[in-house]
Amino acid sequence: MDKAQAAAPQSLKPQSSKPSSWTPVPRCPLCGSDHIAPFRRQVQGGVAVRHDRCTACLLVFQNPCPTQDWYDEYFRSHYWEDKARDRGDDVKRHAVQWRSQLIRAQRYLACLHAAGLSVPRGGNILEVGCAYGMVIRTMADALAATPFGAEPSDNASASAREVAKVDILGRFIHDVPADRGPFDLILFSHVLEYIVDQDAVFASIRRLLKPGGILLIGTPNIFFRHAAVLEHPYCFSKRSLRQLFARHGIRPVRIEPTSHLATAFTPDYSLTAAGVLEAPTGAAPTPESPLPGAGLAMRLGAAWFSLANRFPLNRALGFVNPTGTKLNEASRRRLAELKARTR
Ligand SMILES: [Zn+2]
Repeated sequence: MDKAQAAAPQSLKPQSSKPSSWTPVPRCPLCGSDHIAPFRRQVQGGVAVRHDRCTACLLVFQNPCPTQDWYDEYFRSHYWEDKARDRGDDVKRHAVQWRSQLIRAQRYLACLHAAGLSVPRGGNILEVGCAYGMVIRTMADALAATPFGAEPSDNASASAREVAKVDILGRFIHDVPADRGPFDLILFSHVLEYIVDQDAVFASIRRLLKPGGILLIGTPNIFFRHAAVLEHPYCFSKRSLRQLFARHGIRPVRIEPTSHLATAFTPDYSLTAAGVLEAPTGAAPTPESPLPGAGLAMRLGAAWFSLANRFPLNRALGFVNPTGTKLNEASRRRLAELKARTR
């Protein structure tokens, strides 16, 4: 089982930083609908956190929302430090994260393969928020491509540079110089949900991705209710990801649930989405019509998830569907080699 993901709700606590400024969100930031319903209300680390749900496109969004400046500083100085401390691991040699990132790389490669997508040999691939660099390094090796990254944390990016040998081009996607692109693939592995201004990030994607280039996204599935936390201004579903792609001229090729509990019957923690950059049509995306019963379905999905994540169902489902839970032979060798090299 992917222990790092299973333990996510416990570790997702901003321990060192609290937002001081909040912006109200009067309508759905994705489709513009004003049909909004409460999704989750909670107090997290002494901070009142409210997520609403768009009843049309099913985007879940924080309302009011902390500013991008707070998120930027949080990921620059606190996120990996908090996580490493929680796990008793070294922030500069975070072996628990290496393992988790190797499993994610396996999933993304499997998704590309299933979608019939690939990058040319010798192509350039960029991961935004690349953390310790293991995902993009592993993918680059498998695809015979060159890996690049952007990462806000000095500790994580130093490790990505020194251990994973990834060329770091800046802290954020808007820092990546256009002349270092264009890229054949841009990856956001559990990063897109942390970015407040989605229009700005997609403008950068269009600037840096080749026409016909691949956008690959891993993100929590909002059927996993614990995804609605202070750290996430947005939480996506298959429906809202399709809407997001349409809004920004990305043709969806494959959007699938992945991870240890994903079966035909179980909503899961993660979604993986692969799309291809097309020329903008100039036409506004077609708004989704409201989906009756979606709120109830999301509640039932969340209830099932919390049941399925507990013993003994978690064991049974892990046995039925081990995909994405275990390191393959190549990843096992890589992890052992990394640990030996950095001892
Ligand atoms: Zn919407």
